[in-house]
Amino acid sequence: MQNSTSSSEGKERGPKVPYDGTRLLQDPIFNKGTAFSQEERQKLKLNGLLPPRQFTIEEQVALEMERLRGKATDLDRFVGLAALQDRNETLFYRVLVDNMAELMPIVYTPVVGQACQQYSHIFRRPRGLWITPEDIERIPEILRNAVSQDVRLIVVTDNERILGLGDQGAGGMGIPVGKVALYCGGAGIHPTNTLPISLDVGTNNGDLLNDPLYMGYRHRRLRGEPYDRFIEAFVKAVNEVFPKALIQWEDFFKDIAFTLLDRYRKRTPCFNDDIQGTSAVALAGMLASLRVTGQKLCDQRIVYMGAGAACVGIGRLVRTAMQQEGGDPQKIHEAQVFLDTRGLLFEGRMIKDEHKKEFALNATGMARYDFGTDDPADLLEVVNKVKPTILLGATTVPGTFTEEIIREMAKHAERPLVFPFSNPTSKAECTPEEAITWTDGRALVATGSPFAPVKHNGKTHVPGQGNNVFIFPGVGLGCILSETPEVPDSMFLVAARTLASLVAQERLDMGSLYPDQGDLRLASRAIACAVIREANRLNLGSMIPDKEIEETVDNAMWFPDYCDYV
Ligand code: NAD
Repeated sequence: MQNSTSSSEGKERGPKVPYDGTRLLQDPIFNKGTAFSQEERQKLKLNGLLPPRQFTIEEQVALEMERLRGKATDLDRFVGLAALQDRNETLFYRVLVDNMAELMPIVYTPVVGQACQQYSHIFRRPRGLWITPEDIERIPEILRNAVSQDVRLIVVTDNERILGLGDQGAGGMGIPVGKVALYCGGAGIHPTNTLPISLDVGTNNGDLLNDPLYMGYRHRRLRGEPYDRFIEAFVKAVNEVFPKALIQWEDFFKDIAFTLLDRYRKRTPCFNDDIQGTSAVALAGMLASLRVTGQKLCDQRIVYMGAGAACVGIGRLVRTAMQQEGGDPQKIHEAQVFLDTRGLLFEGRMIKDEHKKEFALNATGMARYDFGTDDPADLLEVVNKVKPTILLGATTVPGTFTEEIIREMAKHAERPLVFPFSNPTSKAECTPEEAITWTDGRALVATGSPFAPVKHNGKTHVPGQGNNVFIFPGVGLGCILSETPEVPDSMFLVAARTLASLVAQERLDMGSLYPDQGDLRLASRAIACAVIREANRLNLGSMIPDKEIEETVDNAMWFPDYCDYV
């Protein structure tokens, strides 16, 4: 893996600069803009090409933030940041690292969603790789065209389920690009070790197909056997060209997401963040809430509103965590109750989606909660009968957690844990303010999108954001460093436990179940170490000796600063 060319400790002697003069100023990897020293300007033929004053990187960050904050809209800020990345990658990452909490909503959800929707119209310069079905015979050749040939992390999407926005065709590229930025900023993976890829297999989005300026592959989506053959060719090409690369499947439609994960997880190091990253961040929130209530996970009853990629992924990991606590199998089965658009999931009901079936409540569970089988119960009835301690929604339907439902829940739980996880903000099942007001301040709330603190009866509640960004950068870094040949679920379990243990007591006292986003790199470091320890426990990968793990992670984490070129 690319070693850092510079560190937080100060400036180091850097690599040999391949260019000088105007060409150097146009190369985003080596460009420092106004931060070139007088000596560098002299030796690298930059005299006269820059204004006279030399800036420090801190001053450059201050200037960039002044410009960004002065822009009229968040989309303008997105475009401005992308332009900075194209100009000076080190400065882009420094701006991001120093202002993580402020810029994360621009670089990633929710603003990246707008950027994806308008992609063809705001496009400036390409980043990453596009591969279409017509390229099936030459995917290795395309991969070799990538800027770097030391790729360790690929974030790949087929653009079909972009955030809660559906099929965005070629515009989906905004998501792997944004996610890679968070891996680099959040876990210090060096940008040259990363590669965003769009598998542009067409789109069924009529607006895009009808847009004369659409940039993507103007066909309806590839499906069935040709699609499977295309993905197979892609995975084989990655294994051939970048044999050490971890693949992160991103924003695939849920049925395809589960299928690809099951098909490839034992064949190549890969994971799906929508399923597994979400599961770990949700479980971490639950475990942090148990630090407040002093209870055990296997004594919780959890009702899930929604049974898609997010809820099923969470259900699987929670089940594994309960099994580790040694819970009775039937009790564990009954502890998690799911609803979809047609109400309660139970055995005997028509359930088309394969991934939902494992969570259909069995006959013993149905009897225990006194459910009838004639008419699948709705959420209010389920809450009334199951008496959940935790209620989690990932439906994309705002207002699903009504006052009546939350008040019913609060009758049976001293500290109801409410997770309105749907994104973006406008889709949340309820707001933190509603949950806190309807439970007289007793609810612990964790949301998918960011929400402002809530004042209730003189107390300030800070809703934590269950953002996957607390998980995937650290897991990715740990997997890359351990060179694990697979990414078992237990790595997400250790990531969740680590994250829950990092939430400071003062944050728990304010009702926040996650760390501050400003502490993201600390969380990623701890998670990467935990993942490497787990790889060792499972005898996977390069088996970094336990006493060397922390030092290995510290040495690998790139901190964006300039190095001296002369
Ligand atoms: P998905 O399409 O796979 O699943 C959605 C599920 O909701 C389906 O099972 C559907 O049947 C169900 N549903 C829809 N309307 C419903 C209703 N009225 N009542 C009951 N069930 C209903 O989507 P997903 O990947 O699971 O994501 C869902 C939401 O969760 C999105 O908004 C996504 O942004 C959000 N999410 C948040 C996080 C996070 O905050 N960390 C992570 C992943 C997903």
